Amino acid sequence: MNAPANSATPALVDRYGRSVDYVRLSVTDRCDFRCVYCMAEEMTFLPRSQVLSLEELFQVAQAFVQLGVKKIRLTGGEPLVRSNVLSLIERIGALAGLEELLLTTNGSQLEKFAPALRKAGVTRLNISLDSLDPERFRAMTRTGDLAQVQRGIEAALGQGFKAIRLNAVILKGRNEHEILDLLHYALRLGVNIAYIEEMPLGAMSDHDRALTTCSNDDVRKVIETRHALTPMALKTAGPSRYYSIAGSPTRVGFISPVSHNFCATCNRVRVTVEGRLLLCLGNEHSVDLRQVLREHPEDEARLKDTIAKAMDLKPERHHFYTNDAPQLVRFMNMTGG
Ligand code: SAM
Ligand code: SF4
Repeated sequence: MNAPANSATPALVDRYGRSVDYVRLSVTDRCDFRCVYCMAEEMTFLPRSQVLSLEELFQVAQAFVQLGVKKIRLTGGEPLVRSNVLSLIERIGALAGLEELLLTTNGSQLEKFAPALRKAGVTRLNISLDSLDPERFRAMTRTGDLAQVQRGIEAALGQGFKAIRLNAVILKGRNEHEILDLLHYALRLGVNIAYIEEMPLGAMSDHDRALTTCSNDDVRKVIETRHALTPMALKTAGPSRYYSIAGSPTRVGFISPVSHNFCATCNRVRVTVEGRLLLCLGNEHSVDLRQVLREHPEDEARLKDTIAKAMDLKPERHHFYTNDAPQLVRFMNMTGG
């Protein structure tokens, strides 16, 4: 992961002049949790034949890095429940030109995996945590064990990750009264925290999104009753805005894909576990990489060419809602959060 990318490699640039140097790669649609905002209680997962093999996932990652991508995030589903995922992570971590390898996890397997992930080249971890109350945690994840996740978080501390960030999705009437408790937990551990607005992905039987979505402006107001938040100069190309709290290394992020428009600086694309290259989280524009991989398994040049041409399909902005109605039926575990 140390050698610089070949300067002769073509950068991925879309029709609006945006450079794409960040890929989120979903390594499985499966998960040991069933978070209420992410999955239905009863989920049908993809048959194995439709899912990219570890080798195919590696080929996709390699092609993107050869096309100038600097940052890959592994996600899912829960990436750490895929068997032998560590072998994939080690191979991606060793790709010359890749500067950052990130992983988003629910933390359930971290106690076991944290040291090996760092060793394999993962530089930053995002760990989802919506509640510090065991019963509420169980209710929001439907199956999760808070103590197990907290042991995972503790196992990750001190491994030398550049940053660890807790991700909290705040829902009205469920965990909105834990906004400050979650922040204080992050402050105590010296890790970052991001509050994520729920996105309208997938049809949900469990709750009506219009009633439960809690805007980040409301979350920020709650925090500001106790802490002064100072906006950080740090600008990300995505939908996050970061703040600092005096005397603490903890960054407080607000990820507001729905209420704030971040599309003008978007630098990322996603690859689903079926090998669908999604050009935008809030649109259906996509290209089937699995077909290229399977019909031309040895043809790296064709794969790279398909990816480079796909940039022309990247839409100017997201469309989560059409006439106020959510229009996407993909679940987050399919999309790769
Ligand atoms: N299983 C891992 C985890 O939970 O961190 C990685 C995949 S998960 C889909 C990635 C992130 O997406 C998590 O932080 C989760 O809270 C968030 N997420 C899932 N569904 C969402 C939704 N409808 N709106 C906003 N965030 C969502
Ligand atoms: Fe699983 Fe992550 Fe979705 Fe929760 S948010 S159900 S942990 S994939």
